[in-house]
Amino acid sequence: MSCGSWIGIRGTKRLYSTVSKISERTLMSEVQMKELVALCKHRGFIFQSSEIYGGINGFWDYGPYGVELKNAIKQYWWQEMVQRRSDIVGQDASIIMHPKVWEASGHVENFTDPMVDCKECKSRFRADQLESTSACPTCGAKDSFTEARLFNLMLKTNIGANTDSSSQSFLRPETAQAIFTNYRVIQRCSRKKIPFGIAQIGKAFRNEITPRNFTFRSREFEQMEMQYFVDPDDSTDHFEYWLKERFNFFRRVGLPDSKLRFHEHGEGELAHYANAAKDIEVEFPFGWQEVEGIHDRSDFDLSQHQKFSGEEMKYFDESSGRKFIPHVIETSIGADRLSLAILCNSFEKEVIKDSNGKQEFRNVMRFKPHIAPVQIAVLPLMKKLSEPTLRLEQSLRNEGFRTEYDQAGQIGKRYRRQDEIGTPYCVTFDFESLEDNRVTVRFRDSMNQKRILIEELNDFFQSKIRSSMRGFEDSE
Ligand code: ATP
Repeated sequence: MSCGSWIGIRGTKRLYSTVSKISERTLMSEVQMKELVALCKHRGFIFQSSEIYGGINGFWDYGPYGVELKNAIKQYWWQEMVQRRSDIVGQDASIIMHPKVWEASGHVENFTDPMVDCKECKSRFRADQLESTSACPTCGAKDSFTEARLFNLMLKTNIGANTDSSSQSFLRPETAQAIFTNYRVIQRCSRKKIPFGIAQIGKAFRNEITPRNFTFRSREFEQMEMQYFVDPDDSTDHFEYWLKERFNFFRRVGLPDSKLRFHEHGEGELAHYANAAKDIEVEFPFGWQEVEGIHDRSDFDLSQHQKFSGEEMKYFDESSGRKFIPHVIETSIGADRLSLAILCNSFEKEVIKDSNGKQEFRNVMRFKPHIAPVQIAVLPLMKKLSEPTLRLEQSLRNEGFRTEYDQAGQIGKRYRRQDEIGTPYCVTFDFESLEDNRVTVRFRDSMNQKRILIEELNDFFQSKIRSSMRGFEDSE
């Protein structure tokens, strides 16, 4: 916290001969947020919470495609950070913790933003986000702001029947503290030796004064955090290692280097206890913004919990015979912010020409295959072919792919629908399929098509997904 419609219908031949080439491509360098927000609602990615009551500011719901996207991102993070490594284990801690945790962590005292109110319209803003001379962004009144006051961002709640201060607790503003408080028990039960890490994915809550930019700054969101416990003498090396690892993760989920950069915390920004901190920033349509923080937090958190709880946090290093409180390298990323970064950077409005030279638009979400909400759409060329096509779809589903069956409308329109939700592969079952056991696989990005034997589909797609996870581009 700082403080082809081109395919008429019928017949496989036409399906091949009109394979469209992208003869002209206009990429929107800057996605219009309005258009993206509208598309997200229309296609069931993300929309306002409690919408029938007018919504509630800072809270968002994920629809069928949105939840698949976010789950795929979380699952990929978990695989990369926990399952693929022997030095990191996972946990899932409760959202509400002992109130003392937040005293020890400094959140009760310091987790604040300076805030001002407009005396005219009573709107509330973060003082550090307003120009000193600015008029009220809501009503336009000049010089109408109150003095800045500190506003604690933790959401309060009461535990049990009493509603007085003795029962007061907080919805956690970050997942990290539960990793610190569990560090001893997890180190013991997992028998990990330093350096090792503990990872967690979970909800966090912050009473943000000005939630904005769609889901970017929400009041309820999910974090994916990992705390890596290291020998104090080695912390700089581990910090450097994690900077590289995490940057590469952003590339593998499909964000191009041109949209990624590090931001180093300067003197004024660096928390007093931190040795070093860098953010990974992504360029959104509304500017460069933090999506992940990588911090060398020294022994601050464990020392604080040792002091407040009385529990010893020291680690005995058998190899050197030394006893010390480990230093912590933290990697902290928001699942919702990363999802939004991917949505913004995957969305393109493309001008294409069909084989007759007719120009048209298509909306494309260029999700990497391993995180696409639908990986394979399975389509009968005509409704008559629904039975074998449904069987094929179910068999791909059974293999673990995220699939969708769609028989409504012209095949070209169905391709466009799939492009818009980012499906990398469409499989079309036609009349010839009944004879030769082959189907047409159509690739979202190139719009190329290829006939593949049905029995080879599983291997074909498995290898596509695997290479996508490793960061390779699709060559089709
Ligand atoms: P910011 O300066 O944008 O408020 P922060 O520095 O407070 O962010 P951290 O406390 O380091 O953020 O949290 C780690 C990550 O959690 C952030 O990089 C971001 O991805 C995510 N995150 C933090 N606050 C929010 C929020 N209000 N809405 C969505 N994601 C958030």
